[in-house]
Amino acid sequence: MRSVEVIVVGGGPAGSAAAQRLKAAGAEVLVLDKESFPRHKLCAGWITPAVVSDLRLDIGAYPHSFLSFRRLHWHMKGLHLPVPSIQHSIRRFEFDAWLLQRSGAEAVHHTVKNIRRDGQEYVIDESFRCRYLIGAAGTSCPVRRSLFDGTLRRIRALQTVTLELEFPHDWQDGDCHLWFFQSGLPGYSWYVPKARGWLNVGVGAMAARLRQHESIWQHWRHLASQLERQFRIRMPANPTGYSYYVRGGVGQARVDNAFLTGDAAGLATRDLCEGIGPAIRSGQRAADSILTGAAYTLDGVTGASLGGGLLSRWLDWQFTHGASPGH
Ligand SMILES: Cc1cc2nc3c(=O)[nH]c(=O)nc-3n(C[C@H](O)[C@H](O)[C@H](O)COP(=O)(O)OP(=O)(O)OC[C@H]3O[C@@H](n4cnc5c(N)ncnc54)[C@H](O)[C@@H]3O)c2cc1C
Repeated sequence: MRSVEVIVVGGGPAGSAAAQRLKAAGAEVLVLDKESFPRHKLCAGWITPAVVSDLRLDIGAYPHSFLSFRRLHWHMKGLHLPVPSIQHSIRRFEFDAWLLQRSGAEAVHHTVKNIRRDGQEYVIDESFRCRYLIGAAGTSCPVRRSLFDGTLRRIRALQTVTLELEFPHDWQDGDCHLWFFQSGLPGYSWYVPKARGWLNVGVGAMAARLRQHESIWQHWRHLASQLERQFRIRMPANPTGYSYYVRGGVGQARVDNAFLTGDAAGLATRDLCEGIGPAIRSGQRAADSILTGAAYTLDGVTGASLGGGLLSRWLDWQFTHGASPGH
């Protein structure tokens, strides 16, 4: 049995951010992930200036694909609004592996199945033992399942469904485009160019608000025709899907010395379903709590990408119909 001070389950942005902060402070930390990195992760890979700053990311020194857009093009009900805004894109395949390596933590390829308490410690699959445990394994996180099931409910009105595809493409338009509510979609679709000739396109919707007999695949086909009309893009393959939760009802993301972060806690923003920023910040907060003994709060982890003003609140309402607001 391997015994360490802190185990982080999941080496995505939440897990790497926590591991990096712990490691930098001299803590003994081990990351367990069911994949070996670099691994594929479904995600448009849009990151905000806040993410760059939270990670203290030196853009010039980042060794992989990194693109900055000058404008976000909003398309809604036939209107087109180009909004000047510096935002960025990365490829998750590269970014996550780089973040995990940069954390300096040892990463072990292991699929976590069972977790049990043993006095003040946690025992994982009878193979690992730790004093502190960070759950950072996304929507189906085993830490959540084993230790938080009774305290945190999944709320269907906050569940997203997505389909996306990332492929090599010699794009001409280097800005990001978002189409809201097209053909009755309870969500939005996107065109996110990446550096070095990659493109990510996809569609995301609130699962509970898709009309009866309507599927996310119909909206994928609408997007495919839109992209063919507007950019002469032909989809080279079928997309793949994933589901995660936007923020709401995260009353208790810590039980004893176990913490939930990122998608494991359901922290994506309610207006644009942005999950990378909240994952990183919550990972850092969990690490701070272990290091300083301070309470683990999600107060500084934003639930709104657009600042929480009128537009944020309107999009939130359109997506969630006010389901379980707050923390
Ligand atoms: C199609 C799509 C597009 C998106 N686009 C954006 C975007 O453009 N910008 C944005 O900010 N957010 C976006 N998101 C949301 C974002 O991807 C997530 O919120 C973010 O990845 C959450 O990070 P995380 O570290 O919590 O979890 P993850 O990135 O999911 O990492 C979890 C890790 O845990 C590992 N794991 C899972 N189960 C186990 C287990 N049992 N044992 C060990 N390891 C395990 C996984 O292998 C994985 O490496 C998108 C999501 C989707 C689905």
